[in-house]
Amino acid sequence: MRFLPVFLDLKAGPVVLIGAGELLRAKLRVLAAAGARLRVHAIDGNHDLGLGSKDAARIEILASDPLTADLSGVVAVVCAGAGDVGVAMSARAKAAGLPVNVMDDLEHSSFIFPAIVDRGDVVVAVGTGGSSPVVARRVREKIEALLPARIGELAEFIGTFRKSINERIAEFPLRRRFWERVIDGPIGAAVLAGRNSEADASLRAISDPAAFARADKPEGSVTLVGAGPGDPDLLTIKALRALQDADIVFHDELVSPEILDRIRRDTTRVSVGRRIGKPGIGQDAINKRMIEAAQSGQRVVRLKGGDPFVFGRGGEEVEALRAAGIAYSIIPGITAGLGAAADFEVPLTYRHEASRITFLTAHKARDAENVDWSTLTDARMTLVVYMGVTAAPAVRAGLFAAGRSPETPVGVFARVTQPDAQGAIGTLRDLPELARRIHGGPAILIIGDVVRHAGSLRQTPKQLISDLLEAAE
Ligand code: SAH
Repeated sequence: MRFLPVFLDLKAGPVVLIGAGELLRAKLRVLAAAGARLRVHAIDGNHDLGLGSKDAARIEILASDPLTADLSGVVAVVCAGAGDVGVAMSARAKAAGLPVNVMDDLEHSSFIFPAIVDRGDVVVAVGTGGSSPVVARRVREKIEALLPARIGELAEFIGTFRKSINERIAEFPLRRRFWERVIDGPIGAAVLAGRNSEADASLRAISDPAAFARADKPEGSVTLVGAGPGDPDLLTIKALRALQDADIVFHDELVSPEILDRIRRDTTRVSVGRRIGKPGIGQDAINKRMIEAAQSGQRVVRLKGGDPFVFGRGGEEVEALRAAGIAYSIIPGITAGLGAAADFEVPLTYRHEASRITFLTAHKARDAENVDWSTLTDARMTLVVYMGVTAAPAVRAGLFAAGRSPETPVGVFARVTQPDAQGAIGTLRDLPELARRIHGGPAILIIGDVVRHAGSLRQTPKQLISDLLEAAE
């Protein structure tokens, strides 16, 4: 390591910035965003630096020669696109004992700029010793994706309590444990979810901070996570983080193996799946086991296919968690209907053709009174039907009775966003036949004029061959 990352106090004095053109403007934006006071020498004489009026108080634009400018009180000198003037300026700054950066010129620089992740009080600097700013930027992107957006707020939140906790817990190791428990527990989670006043109240409610730090049982929590329809790259960044942080994951059977692969290796996994024909352990038992795990201090993730609140019984689980007084949060996922729409290029709304969407389940559609078909008559309403494959004949009968045309376009889409996704498109008249053409679930129906716009159906080579054989028979 040649360059040690340190953090410069920009309140201590102005930064002198010398240069020209777009390079100067780019550096100016970086320094202005960091809140620096600046003395800028635009040596090409172009003083139009695109500054807003709010910058005017902090940024002085000077026409004088930088090589003779007064450097007293200055905290650093930066040259961007300054050519020979930069080299001369570097010698001056070094003689004056000031840190100096000449852009893309390690020889004349005593410090270099890292790539920055800026989250308020939390700042991450990434450097490559000046050898590859592009590599530094790639690393920064990865860190950006990992850090919660509100991590800076968490640091600030802790900052406001630090003094009072220091006074109340004298021993340093115990103090550290106190903060670890706050950050890793429900209070930290509340700040990261933007529920600051709740976090504030919870922290103030800790009457004996030392005892809180000593308690050997950490506070558990439950996170309901939407896993999306199968493609692991469709997990949200938050979902991925929750999977990495979990001590135990209760997952549905629908969740794809590729997504389960994203769970931390040493995390306990429990399949609580229900699938057609298989009862699973039952909702009450799931609730009970989640609550027990959280009460024993574990970070629990309840991982569900698609979105937890779309035919996922997330609502019932939240009610049980509330009743048990367990801290919980909810991370949405991409629901199967949206996955199908994107995968098979079916726009769910379309000017003049579809102005509303209904998501419905046909789970119990065979009992006619379970679905009120008379509310689904509007031809400009796209229907997205979950659990509709085995009930396809009942769906068709119900929609015919509601007056929907037999010519209404229909798509049956299976295993959407997964490598072996499959689709069949036709009309409402043929719906049961289309459903039969699908080999293996889960599958979803989209019904409405918009299905006309579907892109070409993807088929796996294996599927294609079996279809050809079938056609040849
Ligand atoms: N919460 C889930 C839905 C659970 S109900 C979500 O938001 O997607 C289960 C039904 O969802 C299945 O019967 C099927 O209709 C649909 N489904 C789930 N995953 C699917 C997938 N990958 N492809 C097609 N349909 C899917």
